Amino acid sequence: MMNAQATSLQITGMTCAACAARIEKGLHKMDGVTMANVNLALENATVEFDSSRVAVSDIISRVEKLGYGAQVKENDQAVFNHREEAIQKQKRKFAISAILSLPLLWTMVGHFSLTSFIYVPEILMNPWVQMILATPVQFIIGGQFYISAYKALRDQSANMDVLVVMGTSAAYFYSVYQAVNTNAQLHYPHLYFETSAVLITLILLGKLFEAKAKGRSSEAIQKLMGLQAKTALVIRNDAEREISIEDVVVGDIILIRPGEKIPVDGEILEGNTAVDESMLTGESLPIDKEAGSIVFGSTVNKNGFITIRATKVGRDTALAQIIKVVEDAQGSKAPIQRLADKISDVFVPVVIALAIMTYLVWLIFLAPGEFGPAMESLIAVLVIACPCALGLATPTSIMAGSGRAAELGILFKGGEHLEQTHHINTVIVDKTGTVTNGKPILTDVIVAEGMNIRMLLSFIGSAEKQSEHPLAQSIIKGIEQEGIKLREVRDFEAIPGYGVKATVNQRAILVGTRKLMNKYNINISGALGMMEELEAEGKTAMIASIDGRYAGMIAVADTIKDSSGQAIARLQDMGIEVIMMTGDNERTARAIAQQLGIQRVMAELLPEEKAQEVRKLQAAGRKVAMVGDGTNDAPALAVANIGMAVGTGTDIAMEAADITLIRGDLNSIADAIIMSHKTMANIKQNLFWAFGYNTLGIPIAAAGFLAPWLAGVAMAFSSVSVVLNALRLQRVELNKKATKKWDVH
Ligand code: ADP
Ligand code: MG
Repeated sequence: MMNAQATSLQITGMTCAACAARIEKGLHKMDGVTMANVNLALENATVEFDSSRVAVSDIISRVEKLGYGAQVKENDQAVFNHREEAIQKQKRKFAISAILSLPLLWTMVGHFSLTSFIYVPEILMNPWVQMILATPVQFIIGGQFYISAYKALRDQSANMDVLVVMGTSAAYFYSVYQAVNTNAQLHYPHLYFETSAVLITLILLGKLFEAKAKGRSSEAIQKLMGLQAKTALVIRNDAEREISIEDVVVGDIILIRPGEKIPVDGEILEGNTAVDESMLTGESLPIDKEAGSIVFGSTVNKNGFITIRATKVGRDTALAQIIKVVEDAQGSKAPIQRLADKISDVFVPVVIALAIMTYLVWLIFLAPGEFGPAMESLIAVLVIACPCALGLATPTSIMAGSGRAAELGILFKGGEHLEQTHHINTVIVDKTGTVTNGKPILTDVIVAEGMNIRMLLSFIGSAEKQSEHPLAQSIIKGIEQEGIKLREVRDFEAIPGYGVKATVNQRAILVGTRKLMNKYNINISGALGMMEELEAEGKTAMIASIDGRYAGMIAVADTIKDSSGQAIARLQDMGIEVIMMTGDNERTARAIAQQLGIQRVMAELLPEEKAQEVRKLQAAGRKVAMVGDGTNDAPALAVANIGMAVGTGTDIAMEAADITLIRGDLNSIADAIIMSHKTMANIKQNLFWAFGYNTLGIPIAAAGFLAPWLAGVAMAFSSVSVVLNALRLQRVELNKKATKKWDVH
């Protein structure tokens, strides 16, 4: 029996993309592991496995066998603290390394004719003094490189530490050999102690920058977590008690005073208030809430005293889900990274081969018999070629890009979606709940001859009672406001895209579209004229029948979101075709589309037909983004190149979608596409930086024009520039430009 399970592990000891690739490969080979994804930048691994065949402990010991540390991921705060500690340790190491290397660096200025006038104390030129300074740097500070390189070689693979160890050891041991074999009384030998020490110091500096960057990019998550309340005031055994938020359980009754943060997701039992949900939705206006309304953890209760019943706690709250999506996205890979992974897999062996060739060419042809220049070129090639920045290029951008997007209310499910969104050239928007507010108001009631209006509404309301459709909810609200009592319902059936069917008081009720009526052979010829009139006004009219006979009609009017027109104009200005797709009738759809400047409308579609239309557009070569809110959009969201779900993201739509737009504002569509463009551009710049240094550097180093220490500087600089470039994404501002005038109705 298959027992699919997933775990997230915190990995330590990875130094470059080759390490991540190696762990991934090792895990994939394990029996029972179905998927393993290792992220270098986040230092974690996501592993899916069959728990009947393999246990988490097996997976951990496998990672340890490969030479790395692994532990089940603790809570985010613990991970954050570990990271802080690691940074502090790395800082101390760097400081000691720098202090020991500085005097050695000083001796170097004596080598250059330009700087040879600078005074260098005689004692520093002493080979034994130099050796005393360089040895602790080489083996104590640099010990970590030896350990890591050893582990890699033991597994018949090579990582960047192999290059570091080879380069610095060559410099160090050659210098020791020179120091021992030259009579320093006569002349000082040419030594490379400063090269190895300075290199190690610079590599540590690069690592320090990396560690800091990693800390910075989880800031988005930190910010989100910081929104949570710490405690909740609950009523247990008739007494009020202030308890920690972790101890709140589903069903707890919680009191929330004005101005307080709502601790968990829940339903209001008592009280009226306005809630600031801007941290979740970006909507700046407080939302009115009353008994029965749903409230979300970490939003702020503005002005009323409310009592809620906890419905979702811990990992299930809307905020926790958002954090999870952001984390997953930050830890996932973009397809473009496969390229980087492949390259770094072959890079190290190729570089070692190149370095040895360089060494031999120098020793045999360029400077026959002289070990010095040959050695220098070998070291320089080994160091400049380090593929360290290459491994960082993609993950740092994905992390920064998806983190920034999350702050803007756009949750990418994975790196691949962040990459693919920039190809989008066609955007399909659903009407109800996406373009419109989805909270229609009951506007018209038309009663067939011989029917009583209150009775008709009572039948319609009862039939709609169990429907979750936004239309149903507004119909019921309108009916209940009239003080009409609803009746008992049997055999309720929702027919997606058509309407509802139910038995009320032993009478068969249908409410819905023309299609629904045709399906049940109900004569509606008397209703059609009026229906068209209502639809031309942009209203959605629904027909009701009782016991197979036309009984009346109700119409609701939905309001268009204030921002929709401008957001759609913005997409059109970007050269993207916007199409409206709806299950509602053609006439209503056209009326609304016209107000929005949308030319192409596809109406009266059933959920499956929406998906079908998406496929047709794709077959015509379009890259389609589908934007929808409801269960009826789920098939289309899944089929589209990119599915975007609108809403706070808890339902089926979010499951099916690739991106969740937390804000209802359709400007998020353009923002998501721009964010994807910017991230992809950033990744390409990063790959260029990483490749640029390496490929340009290798021939220069091989030709002997690059002093080993300069190669070290260039290498450290390449990591730093990649990281700094990626961090630019965190400051991206997306300014909405209203280009078309559009007035609100
Ligand atoms: P949209 O694509 O605009 O979100 P749907 O596919 O959910 O719309 O619904 C299409 C049409 O089916 C609605 O416009 C309405 O006429 C009818 N309908 C759907 N659900 C109901 C319901 N619960 N009660 C009455 N009519 C409904
Ligand atoms: Mg909808």
